[in-house]
Amino acid sequence: MRILIVDDSVDARTVAKARLSAEGHEIICAEGGQIGLDLAAKENPDLILLDVDMPGMSGFEVCRKLKSNDELHLIPVIFVSGSGDAGDKVIGLDLGAIDYVTKPFDAFELRARVRAALRTKRLQDILRDKALIDPLTELGNRRAFDERLRLEWSRAARYNLQLALIMADIDHFKDINDQYGHQIGDEVLRRISCRLSACLRECDAIYRYGGEEFGTLLPETSLSGAIELAQRLCAQISAEPLQIGNQTLKVSASFGAASNQDVNDPESLVGAADEQLYEAKGDGRNCVRPLINAPVQNQR
Ligand SMILES: [Mg+2]
Repeated sequence: MRILIVDDSVDARTVAKARLSAEGHEIICAEGGQIGLDLAAKENPDLILLDVDMPGMSGFEVCRKLKSNDELHLIPVIFVSGSGDAGDKVIGLDLGAIDYVTKPFDAFELRARVRAALRTKRLQDILRDKALIDPLTELGNRRAFDERLRLEWSRAARYNLQLALIMADIDHFKDINDQYGHQIGDEVLRRISCRLSACLRECDAIYRYGGEEFGTLLPETSLSGAIELAQRLCAQISAEPLQIGNQTLKVSASFGAASNQDVNDPESLVGAADEQLYEAKGDGRNCVRPLINAPVQNQR
């Protein structure tokens, strides 16, 4: 696993690195608080060993920033300090650190504490993954979609980038369940999610939004780019009937697209794409809205 050591003392970094490399971990080092925060964001380590006493930004301050950052708050922190002062330990643990080790540390104790922290991190990762995955399609679920939408929205706002969303809904899905049963219905969902995923770029992210509805986030994509992709997805789904057991099912889906250029917040992006999806349903299904020739506002 990957461990980030943040310490202003070159000796302390060297010793900790030597102790932990022996366990087979990848070690990265930062000589100050701000560099540590930057590296944490860039490298997404599994654990941070954080010196308390550092010039400029103290370890406590670094920990405060980590724990208040949506993207970094789950990385466990072990404080490493020359002070065994009980008050400091209380502050460190109350800031959200998982452990507090005093220097000079015993090599075996440090390794054992790191192992314990990494065990907890692994369990936490497994539980988190489970909580974010739809077991039927193995796509991210609604919660994962909401998290990613928030993340992509703020990234797009920060760097002034475009962000588009495609909402897709399988047509007459209730009829499929009624006619063929839920097991076939479930298989349709799995097959359709595969067909959709197969057409996406690596940076696109598809989620099972709910029931038979899928949401695909397209970073750095314009509305017209999203519409073009949605048209390909639409054609791909209805191109060939699904062969499930001895049943042949003609399946189609309707699509709505929207872009961050036309709305002010992530909820409105979903609302706008959903609105277009309902337009597509109203227009007879198996199609994409908005129409690509329709005037698109604020397009770059
Ligand atoms: Mg120090």
